[in-house]
Amino acid sequence: MLPRVPHYLAGEWRTSPELASTPVFNPSTGDVIAQCPAGGAAEVDAAVAAAHAAFPAWRETPAVERARVFFRYRQLIEQNFDRLCATVSREHGKTLSEARGDVHRGLENVEYACGVPTLLFGDTLENLARGVDCETLNQPLGVCVGITPFNFPAMVPMWMFPLALACGNTFVLKPSEKVPLTAVLLGELLEQAGLPKGVFNIVHGGRPAVDALLTHPQVRAVSFVGSTPIAKYIYETGTRHGKRVQANGGAKNYIVIMPDADIPKSVEALATAAFGCAGERCMAGSTALTVGPAAERLLPDLVAAARAIRVGRTDRPAPAPQPDMGPLISAPHRERVLGLVASGEAEGAKVVADGRNARVADAPHGFYLGATVVDGVRADMTLAREEVFGPVLNVMRMDDLDAAIAQANASAFGNGAAIFTQSGRAAREFKHRVKAGMVGINVGVPATMAMFPFTGWDDSFYGDLHIQGREAVQFYTQQKVVTTRWFGGDVGDVWKK
Ligand code: NAD
Repeated sequence: MLPRVPHYLAGEWRTSPELASTPVFNPSTGDVIAQCPAGGAAEVDAAVAAAHAAFPAWRETPAVERARVFFRYRQLIEQNFDRLCATVSREHGKTLSEARGDVHRGLENVEYACGVPTLLFGDTLENLARGVDCETLNQPLGVCVGITPFNFPAMVPMWMFPLALACGNTFVLKPSEKVPLTAVLLGELLEQAGLPKGVFNIVHGGRPAVDALLTHPQVRAVSFVGSTPIAKYIYETGTRHGKRVQANGGAKNYIVIMPDADIPKSVEALATAAFGCAGERCMAGSTALTVGPAAERLLPDLVAAARAIRVGRTDRPAPAPQPDMGPLISAPHRERVLGLVASGEAEGAKVVADGRNARVADAPHGFYLGATVVDGVRADMTLAREEVFGPVLNVMRMDDLDAAIAQANASAFGNGAAIFTQSGRAAREFKHRVKAGMVGINVGVPATMAMFPFTGWDDSFYGDLHIQGREAVQFYTQQKVVTTRWFGGDVGDVWKK
């Protein structure tokens, strides 16, 4: 019997054998390792009712006490770091070092949440008018929801619930049904950190659970991270039902290589940006825009770097040998990526490093794809327009920086963009004109850390206030402005005999 992943409702771990379920794979072998229940309205009602009931007491808990829960949580994550990483690697397919990155980036968000007493400071102005003072209070919203993707099983949930809870909200997490085991572990540690029952809840499932959350009258805010069509749907449906929504979508990120770029460093950065996490990153550098002679200088080393990447199993913890790259999340996703590469080839692009036949001898049914470089990609190709989300790097040759910026700016997405150059003038021009929320200058993956907002633009984000940083504090709080006047005599006249 395969284990069934439990929901976490009102402080109880509950399995629901009566519900339909979806398989959780070990992508390294293709084996099914657990069954994720397809929760619906009943589970959502129970989770939201628990969160709603827990809100008044949690809201009244002083911010310093709420922060203390996250100081303990931080320590528990450190103590259980290896266990968390092993779970991420097993159910997702990240290499050990990528899994460490996933958990560590999440941990930084917990650390940020520990500073909540100062993050919640309001403003005051004395003597707004004579004898009248004004202050702002930042108060929690109530029940908040997080709906998360498969590709960062630890970090993305931790983008959301630590800060939401530290701000005084209660929370329902709906993790990706492809990677629910990491979410369960994160919930167990939160329980151990001493969070009161009902403050945090987990409901598993797909669209029925999401729809029940988006339309539930007691849900006040929804944070979403996932693909663009679903992000748009979440934003439209959630806002139509009166919720505050932030919805991060997909991406297509360009890396411009100028003729004066440091070539070895650019190759290293491109290989990491394109093939790290098997390309399953919203900040993956999926297209190199080479300017003028940069292509000829770059390509031989880039192709060699791609061919040198060793693909292998990620489900055996160290000291077992670790590969450079793990499998993709599922067999259908692998087929989709293969189809996109084939479409590029059919439309005239050239596969110059071909990872399509990657095999892992002791895991013939794993969902593997090797690092692939496709040269001569043109703007009109499907491969150039659609998010691939696999270890595939497109190379598009540009005449000059203007053409490279125009190509990047023509994208429907606007998540990340980077330039490699030694020219301050070119870098300045690029950062000023490029249409992307996160820009790297000689940095291939300019993903922001916890104290800065994760600022996608256009089809990479729907909403007003981004995830992470001060914008996230604003997202999880509502401002109250209090204007005060006390009647009596003049200034200095209080209780005078
Ligand atoms: P996805 O959109 O398929 O799923 C995300 C979440 O939405 C999951 O919890 C899933 O259960 C739910 N969902 C799926 N289909 C749904 C539907 N029809 N109705 C309601 N809910 C639905 O995304 P994914 O494949 O898990 O993750 C990969 C995507 O996430 C990529 O497009 C990637 O770029 C994006 N992503 C974006 C960011 C960012 O910050 N911009 C970060 C990480 C991942």
